[in-house]
Amino acid sequence: MELTTKDFIKDYKNQFQSMYAYSYEEGSTEQLYNALGLLVKNYISTPWKETRETYIKNSVKQVFYFSMEFLPGRQLKSNAYNLGLLDTVKEGLTELGLSFDELSEAEVDPALGNGGLGRLASCFMDSLASLSMAGNGNGIRYQYGLFRQKFVDGYQVELPENWLRYRNVWETSNDKSTCMVRFGGNVWLERNKQGYLEAKYENTLNVLAVPYDTPMVGYRNDKVNNLRLWSAEIPVEEENNYHTIEETEPIKEITQVLYPDDSNYEGRLLRLKQEYFMVSAGVQSIIRHFRKYNVPRKNIPDKVAIHINDTHPALVVPELMRILIDEERLSWEQAWEITFKTCSYTNHTILREALEKWPIDMMKELLPRIYMIIEEINRRFVENTLPLYGERITWQTAILQNGVVNMAHMAVIGSHSVNGVAQLHTDILMNDVLKDFFELYPERFNNKTNGITQRRWVHLANPGLTQLLDDKIGEDWKKNPSELKVFKGQEKDKQTLKQLAAIKLENKKRLADHIEKVKGIKVNPNAIFDVQIKRLHAYKRQHLNLLHILHRYLEIKQNPSVDYAPRVFIFGAKAAPSYLYAKQIIKVINSLAELVNNDPDVGDKLKVVFFENYGVSLAEKIIPAADVSEQISLASMEASGTSNMKLMANGALTLATLDGANIEIRDFVGGDNIFVFGLTSPEVYELKAAQTYNARDLYENNSNIHRALNALKDGTIPNLQDEGHAIFESLVHFNDEYFVLKDFDSYVQAQEDIDSLYKDQNEWTRKSLLNIASSAPFSADYTIKKYADDIWKVKSCAVEHEGVQPLDEPVS
Ligand SMILES: *Cc1c(COP(=O)(O)O)cnc(C)c1O
Repeated sequence: MELTTKDFIKDYKNQFQSMYAYSYEEGSTEQLYNALGLLVKNYISTPWKETRETYIKNSVKQVFYFSMEFLPGRQLKSNAYNLGLLDTVKEGLTELGLSFDELSEAEVDPALGNGGLGRLASCFMDSLASLSMAGNGNGIRYQYGLFRQKFVDGYQVELPENWLRYRNVWETSNDKSTCMVRFGGNVWLERNKQGYLEAKYENTLNVLAVPYDTPMVGYRNDKVNNLRLWSAEIPVEEENNYHTIEETEPIKEITQVLYPDDSNYEGRLLRLKQEYFMVSAGVQSIIRHFRKYNVPRKNIPDKVAIHINDTHPALVVPELMRILIDEERLSWEQAWEITFKTCSYTNHTILREALEKWPIDMMKELLPRIYMIIEEINRRFVENTLPLYGERITWQTAILQNGVVNMAHMAVIGSHSVNGVAQLHTDILMNDVLKDFFELYPERFNNKTNGITQRRWVHLANPGLTQLLDDKIGEDWKKNPSELKVFKGQEKDKQTLKQLAAIKLENKKRLADHIEKVKGIKVNPNAIFDVQIKRLHAYKRQHLNLLHILHRYLEIKQNPSVDYAPRVFIFGAKAAPSYLYAKQIIKVINSLAELVNNDPDVGDKLKVVFFENYGVSLAEKIIPAADVSEQISLASMEASGTSNMKLMANGALTLATLDGANIEIRDFVGGDNIFVFGLTSPEVYELKAAQTYNARDLYENNSNIHRALNALKDGTIPNLQDEGHAIFESLVHFNDEYFVLKDFDSYVQAQEDIDSLYKDQNEWTRKSLLNIASSAPFSADYTIKKYADDIWKVKSCAVEHEGVQPLDEPVS
């Protein structure tokens, strides 16, 4: 949008004064931020309203992306940027003697997600809006976000994240769109006068679902989509229907906290309540919205696509059936046809412990009508499948099994599309995890490799690199990422390489300052910045990284003149509060950091920095400064990964196993420009099947492994209780479930290769440039384009003058 600095200054002064009845000169940072945020939101409100109206006027097909988690990060800068106002705002504030960056840091980073899955949902929201596609988010407005992590004596401590204590300027509570969600009670079917079977309820707990809408601003295209997050509130009292405190507490509880477990299934009643609450409110509001289109019910799939992000919202399937049958009075067959054509499902994990299975008794009691419908879906599924495919496949794929409701099965059976999130992951779904379903419905399966928005992760996080790209290849890459490949033409240009290296060094200096400020550790900006940032999980193998650092430390102690390139190992990771092993790994890394960072024999050769409270805002600081991207999960375990993509796009070289999207990264950048090590996925499958793995043999016969593992428990690392022992035991005594020791040697070798290459700065920077230039395929814009074409069948509403370029397929 168009706005002069002068007009902005006038608007801002007015905004501040009308909110606080003071002049901005007397405002606190928080007040100054609030005024700025609300002013930007005012600027958004016109295109937001117009977008909504245009979609309805043109009867556009809309996507509703259902996700238990969204992890948007701070929104002020990104909204101002996408509107095209960032420079004006910065200039205006400077003229007023204010600092944009300072105000921007005053915004809370809403941690309404655990990690990759929630962040993906937010990248998708950004891409949908930027591609002018009608795509809405549907989720939960948790009162407390993911816990704030602190280290006390090296141990993780979890503090409540009461993010709504501050004013959330971006949301609008939308009181006229509330819905009622029913739990529990008794349900029966009664034939009414017209001959319909009517669902009758008694003694239900009724919960009011209040929507809070947040604008999702498209990149310079005047399109603003909606993220709708639901909050559970107590219904207004009617005459004979009042609520005691005992009754109201369980209602407010529903949207109070985000479950802090990543990749782990929590079979708790409250979680099931959250899932149904979000699903029911979302589906009700979609059907209400659809009525505005004034077309027959059977056309719902032409106007609405509902996406199920992992199984958490899989109750969409029976809930949509319920509304179509009980409220819209369609027959079962009609309702099923609509439901199945409307829904699609993304699987995010092959970890057994993450696959949701609800006890039938719990489902029946909490959601009696929904359970009746699930039973009928299952009955019909079995009836159809049994004669065609026989007993084994039918019982393996049924929704109801051994007293549980298998949510993945419900999602597959109720969706017309099932996708994995990287090619390897999709292959594993088809050949292993959902193999029987692949036999039933091969046509439903497809791959959609994850992506990231370059607007947040490059344009905004790395302005130096963005400017360099603009100078060297023009600005087209910003709307058409495939243009990035043009940058490859500069790989031999000494001048460009020098500039690129200088930008990386600047970013590293900035991060070094931040490290000193928050951790009190002085690091050398010329050292290799080696980064592993992601949730802490045994399958992601932060302890492999740990063992290598320990190995280097012991080498240095043995031979202080050993030739290692100076290295700073940087970690950011939260552990689920109940995940003891992950917390033990955190403690050992922190204690090792204490040892290494304070040993005068070590000097610059080795520093270890473990940031507290990893989240989107911290990621934005770390990623532009990274030289090495650690993606070292056991092959086959990481569905895709997205930090690998963010880091690549910022010029880090990837050190990886052939897992998830790392494989595609290698394919696009070329094997010479990535460091690959370790077992491949087929090798992992083989080794598991053969049952020949013996970790103790490796411990006893490999001297480096022997020495490092002993150092975990012989007092070398200070201030440990039994955490070092615990890691030792899991690796040696419990036979190393994730093959850490098996991959150790090849990991150490790859790390040495990194040292050698880094000595040739020119060559290193050339490879860094090639990584940046090859990162276009991982733009979420392409990912969303493929979802839109193959699964949702939605189109861009861009009119030509808006300038959104059609995306070329990026070529390798
Ligand atoms: C990108 C991102 C993730 C995902 O990281 P992976 O390495 O893919 O697991 C998790 N948390 C945050 C805050 C992120 O930005």
